[in-house]
Amino acid sequence: MITAHARATFSPEGPFTLTTIERRDLQPHDVLIEIKYAGICHSDIHTARGEWGPVKYPLVPGHEIAGIVTQVGSEVTKYAIGDRVGVGCMVDSCRECDNCHKGEEQYCLNGMTGTYGAMDRYGQYTQGGYSTHIVVTEDFVVRIPDGMELDAAAPLLCAGITTYSPLRHWGAAPGKKVAVVGLGGLGHMAVKLAHAMGSEVTVLSQSLKKKEDGLRLGADHYYATSDPETFRNLAGSFDLIVNTVSAKIDISAYLSLLALDGTMVNVGAPAEPLSVNVFSLIGHRRSFAGSMIGGIRETQEMLDFCAEHHIAPEIEVISAKQIDEAWERVLASDVRYRFVIDNSTMKNE
Ligand code: NAP
Ligand code: ZN
Ligand code: ZN
Repeated sequence: MITAHARATFSPEGPFTLTTIERRDLQPHDVLIEIKYAGICHSDIHTARGEWGPVKYPLVPGHEIAGIVTQVGSEVTKYAIGDRVGVGCMVDSCRECDNCHKGEEQYCLNGMTGTYGAMDRYGQYTQGGYSTHIVVTEDFVVRIPDGMELDAAAPLLCAGITTYSPLRHWGAAPGKKVAVVGLGGLGHMAVKLAHAMGSEVTVLSQSLKKKEDGLRLGADHYYATSDPETFRNLAGSFDLIVNTVSAKIDISAYLSLLALDGTMVNVGAPAEPLSVNVFSLIGHRRSFAGSMIGGIRETQEMLDFCAEHHIAPEIEVISAKQIDEAWERVLASDVRYRFVIDNSTMKNE
């Protein structure tokens, strides 16, 4: 076993404390990664607080991992010591079902193995990136392109791929009007990516507080959803709406903003059920859809796309002892736009 230092929460309320965790000894296809940076995703909070279901504590969250390969198993072919790599929300899947064969491992019919809070094929409970080291099979590791900083690469592993995948799937492109609901970690990546894909981008945020940022990130328009005029003026105007909001919102009101054949895709994952008035769907042959992260092949494609288009998240790098404080700020929608832990501070008091 390999001992890693980590920050774990022992209850839904926290706080995070320094602890050690065991990583498995390297199997032939495993790589050992020294984690340099780990992003803080709102999903870490939903999970740790038990909002998505029961959790086993201690829990070490973190599924936006960027680091360096420091050891490789005897049969590893894709990576070598010193390589700059990333790990996202999953560390394994069955690799045999139809969806795995299609490269959509996140939709594995036998259940993908989450980076934390899941039982892996070795019978070990997985622990995530708020730690110094992780062992992952090479097939679930991606390469961070040269020239991309590791701290800025980290959030791409979840926030990046979760927004890239639906934008590609529903064809964000020149001539398409895309709205992004919520300008947080996922939302700000959705704006940058949709803009780079050539679409006309609108941000729908609770207020106009972040308007300047939104326009600088690549949005063409910015509206406050607290203003009822927004819903009147924009009715029937978007081809695609990407909802990144972490809380329950009035889905039917947003569906009314879709044009004929438009789709609203939910990537936000609040625990509460969302309700839909069917008349907001049938009126203009609209669709309400969902999307979860992206497959390994597409994650690599997204990283390469970001490198090519010089896209990086806006980050605030914090030390490990600031995790609790950062979580409170995420919950208060006071994040600009992703917190990233400097994992070299993991052991600091
Ligand atoms: P985040 O940084 O907290 O951003 C969420 C944004 O939603 C906030 O910045 C805020 O934007 C808006 N918001 C928050 N509370 C709201 C409320 N009560 N009403 C209206 N708007 C509100 O979170 P994130 O890390 O981007 O994650 C967003 C959601 O996506 C979470 O539920 C997360 O679990 C989920 N997620 C899903 C996937 C997937 O695979 N589908 C992957 C990653 C994350 P404004 O201030 O601009 O209004
Ligand atoms: Zn995430
Ligand atoms: Zn599978």
